[in-house]
This record gives sequence, structure tokens and C-alpha cells, in this order.
Amino acid sequence: MNIALYPGSFDPITVGHLDIIERAARLYDAVIVAVLHNPNKQGAFPVQTRLAFIERACAHLPNVRAERFEGLLVDYARQAGASVVLRGLRAVSDFEYEFQMAQMNRRLCPGVETLFMMTRPEHAYISSSGVREIATFGGDVSAFVPPCILNDVQAALDAGRRNAHGR
Ligand code: ADP
Repeated sequence: MNIALYPGSFDPITVGHLDIIERAARLYDAVIVAVLHNPNKQGAFPVQTRLAFIERACAHLPNVRAERFEGLLVDYARQAGASVVLRGLRAVSDFEYEFQMAQMNRRLCPGVETLFMMTRPEHAYISSSGVREIATFGGDVSAFVPPCILNDVQAALDAGRRNAHGR
């Protein structure tokens, strides 16, 4: 089995992420979308919700599953039997950080290869943080998140905004 691990925060999953997942699902026997649980950083959506969003957005992809992970990525990749860590590249600004991470991970675990997939140009500007910001101010994010999770993403961020304003 050729298993690829696609790690990230996916807070929430965007159409840019989904495109990478769909393309990877055609190349690998299995793709694990690994949601990083960082005990020091809560995120906008609980990890459980992020996982549920991914499962729904990927329901049409039988060889894709979502899992939560914490700790060292290479340990998790080894444990999951993944030979490849997949990352998406949007812009040159992504490159420096990704290059450093890939080199460090190679040093820690030479058996796990990092593979980069270029975003589609029409997704290059899409980020989870952008989605959160736009939705928090009541903007329309329908072009940025998979349609099946749109209402839930918008409702959760609307509720967050109302709570923040004490209403
Ligand atoms: P972000 O919060 O910046 O959207 P994540 O940590 O959730 O990022 O991203 C996980 C992986 O997906 C990273 O490799 C990131 O570069 C990639 N990625 C994020 N958005 C896109 C996009 N629009 N197109 C392609 N790859 C993306």
C-alpha cells in the first residue's frame, strides 16, 4: 500500500485543500488527512469539527480518511505506514518554511519523503485564515469552502462573532 499523509491545521478545510486531496487520491492507494492537534493553540474550530468537515467534504473519495495527530509528524507518518508526506505550495512565501520543514523531517526520518503539489492558480490565494476572517465579518465564503460544509462554517463563525460581541 502506498499511503500519503497530508498534514495541516485545516481550520477549516478549503477548496484549495480539497483539490490537493482529490489529486493525491488518484496517485496513492490511501490518503490520510492528518489534523494537527496543538494543545497550546485552540484554533477556530475544535479538532473534532475539523475532522467531521473533512470527512464530509471527502465523502466521494473512498481512499481518503481524516485522523487527528499530535507530536512529531515523522513519528505519526511511520506509525500510519505512510511513505510520503504531502504538502501544498501556493506561493514563493510558502516555500521557505516548507523547505526547512522538509529538510528537518528528512534528517529525522530519511524513509519518509516530502512531496509538494502546486496549487491550481485559481486557489493560490485561498487560506483557512482568510476564510475565518471573511466569515467572521459576515462575508460570503462560498467560493472558498466545499459547498457541503458552507452553512456550518458560516454558522459557527457567526456564532463566534455574536459571542465576542456579548450578544
Ligand atoms: P492554512 O491554514 O495556511 O490554509 P494548513 O496548515 O491547513 O494551512 O495547510 C495544510 C497544507 O495545505 C499546507 O501544505 C498548505 O500549504 C496547503 N494549502 C493550504 N491552502 C492551500 C491552497 N489554497 N492550495 C494548495 N495548497 C494549500
